[in-house]
Amino acid sequence: MLVVFGWVKQMDLVGAPMPAYCFNCQSYREWGHLKETEWATLFFIKILPFISKSRLICDGCRDEITLNSKAQEKIKELANASDAEEVAWIKAGFDKLIEAHQLQNKTEAQKQYIQSIRSSASSAERHVK
Ligand SMILES: [Zn+2]
Repeated sequence: MLVVFGWVKQMDLVGAPMPAYCFNCQSYREWGHLKETEWATLFFIKILPFISKSRLICDGCRDEITLNSKAQEKIKELANASDAEEVAWIKAGFDKLIEAHQLQNKTEAQKQYIQSIRSSASSAERHVK
């Protein structure tokens, strides 16, 4: 008897994209929340979810940030948050996460320069609105 085992990768976009500043793109971009699940298959039918990973992906440069379980909880909280203050708090947390990820290999001088570009981008966008 022939038994066919295999693995299948499934990618799902979860919820609405979140606007946040991207240091690579030097502008505000939409960050999608992507959930990747690896399934064990038997005769090409998914039977068991194996590994599950969550990532934020910038729609401009495709930069990816792997989310730990705490960050995944925060994304769920953000989707259910109704209070504007709560939303702002959670979004500020993701801004910090993106900043820590994208500036981790930069020197202090580079960070200061990148931060100065960000502040001018923020004020320019405020003027547009
Ligand atoms: Zn980007």
